[in-house]
Amino acid sequence: MSDETSDRDTERLFPTLTQQQVEQLATYGSRRAMRRGETLMEPGDPHPSCFVVVRGSVEILRVANEGETLVHLHQAGQFTGEANLLTGRAALVRIRANEDGEVVVLNRDQVLRVLQLESEIGQIVMRAFILRRVELIARGYGDAVLLGSTHCAGTLRIREFLTRNGHPFVYIDLDTQHDVQALLDSLGVTAEDIPVVMSRGNVLLRNPSNGEVADTLGFNISVDLDAVRDVVVVGAAPAGLAAAVYAASEGLDALVIELAAAGGQAVSSSRIENYLGFPNGITGQELAARAFAQAQKFGADFLIAKHAAHLACERRPYTIEIDGGRRIAARTVIIASGATYRKPDLPHLTEFEGAGIYYGATAMEAQLCGGEEVIVIGGGNSAGQAAVFLAATSRHVHVLVRGESLADSMSRYLVRRLEANPKISVRTHTELVALEGNGHLAHVTWRDTTTGTVERRGIRHVFIMAGALPATGWLDSCAVIDDKGFLKTGGDLTPDDLAARQWPLPRPPHTLETSLPGVFAVGDVRSGSMKRVASAVGEGAAAVALVHRILREQGAQ
Ligand SMILES: Cc1cc2nc3c(=O)[nH]c(=O)nc-3n(C[C@H](O)[C@H](O)[C@H](O)COP(=O)(O)OP(=O)(O)OC[C@H]3O[C@@H](n4cnc5c(N)ncnc54)[C@H](O)[C@@H]3O)c2cc1C
Repeated sequence: MSDETSDRDTERLFPTLTQQQVEQLATYGSRRAMRRGETLMEPGDPHPSCFVVVRGSVEILRVANEGETLVHLHQAGQFTGEANLLTGRAALVRIRANEDGEVVVLNRDQVLRVLQLESEIGQIVMRAFILRRVELIARGYGDAVLLGSTHCAGTLRIREFLTRNGHPFVYIDLDTQHDVQALLDSLGVTAEDIPVVMSRGNVLLRNPSNGEVADTLGFNISVDLDAVRDVVVVGAAPAGLAAAVYAASEGLDALVIELAAAGGQAVSSSRIENYLGFPNGITGQELAARAFAQAQKFGADFLIAKHAAHLACERRPYTIEIDGGRRIAARTVIIASGATYRKPDLPHLTEFEGAGIYYGATAMEAQLCGGEEVIVIGGGNSAGQAAVFLAATSRHVHVLVRGESLADSMSRYLVRRLEANPKISVRTHTELVALEGNGHLAHVTWRDTTTGTVERRGIRHVFIMAGALPATGWLDSCAVIDDKGFLKTGGDLTPDDLAARQWPLPRPPHTLETSLPGVFAVGDVRSGSMKRVASAVGEGAAAVALVHRILREQGAQ
């Protein structure tokens, strides 16, 4: 693969197993002969396999309009495959026998069994799969091409969606690569169709939704929608991912429904410094990617870019309707749908979302506004972290706060960092009152709320970090919520709450259990939760222990 890849990295990417290890793998799969030139797998294959070379060699080929490119030649003792064998997504490459020989073929279930039961081989295989996916992303060796413009919110949305889902793609910026226009003209693509996603050279999606992109690229292809699951988790962020890891590793049949990509709010965090075990911090994206892979290793299923739109709570098993009207049946439910950013009431706000207005500060947004002045709105820890992060690459960061100081809302260590950084100014008693621009934010106006003075500045990037609203609207009125819309659980549910919902059991609700038996709320969506990654993870894990109890109660185990 990459020319810069060192020998050590190459050995980790393409390890050679001992004969004994190959024999061990053969006990999980089946042996088959191969003939030189025979195609073993095509890009887009919905059920990719892992081929372990016993004799001969196999080629990994990237297939594009220009033809085939050799990605790697696997020799005896080496094995094919990458992270799509964990995610259950479609194949990205062609695999062809380079000479006559023999391979061991393992389907996805067999690979997962190896990962779960063979610790030494499993570690080698898992590491290789993840490193290969990272390399594919770095090289853009995927099956998707995104054609868009940096001034277009839809382009940012799809770039974010593919990046956050770890899907390799090639991005073609139409603002700089004018020669692509002839191709678009020949396909009848107009300015309104931008962004455009091309897949495997023959599918063309015009300004698609994330769900359409996911369906076309086969993100959910291996998920059985008809099974009655032991537990359905809604939301694949810290709380939901922890629930998935614990449920799947403890033998429960778990399905996670996620409307965007794994990670939730945590992905907006450029560096989480207070999560146990990471003294130098960890990006939310990395934490989520690790947890996502871990849950899949244990066999949890994920439905990506699917919205849990309704919970039918009148009957057991519960059913959750996903967009499109399809219903998923569940003996128990863990609600980990978290919270979304609070948006200030500002004219033209949505017009500039993704084009100067951002709700997260990650490397991607930092790159968009590198070297320019930026504004961060908010007085909480997320605002402080964003300001420190953005100060490293931007010319100056203005932190706008309505109150008279940061002391009440932000951790002291962050306040000190803001004060010590000459590239950050904190403007108290200040609020944004106007946004202007043509397609992209160009000017902002802020007002000093004590003097009424207004100031118009040529600032093109505003990061809004102003708190969160619970994602509970989809539950209609199934479960009891508090006055802010967060789900009440356990001891917070009053006798009146339970009477109003006709709580049917002689026992009171367990901790984390909502007013619906067997339906739990964990993480930021739960009333009274700590709104931290560690607490969300702890609650997700703890809920699984209670799921076991409920299943026993139902006699389903
Ligand atoms: C910028 C920023 C920085 C932060 N920094 C830190 C930090 O340094 N340390 C710390 O401890 N905490 C930090 N936090 C807080 C932390 O990220 C949250 O407490 C944590 O992410 C909560 O996890 P969660 O799983 O409960 O929910 P969320 O992270 O809110 O995720 C909920 C998930 O559910 C999905 N979802 C919602 N509705 C539906 C639906 N109907 N159907 C399907 N899926 C749905 C969402 O897409 C999302 O993926 C930060 C937060 C932000 C925004």
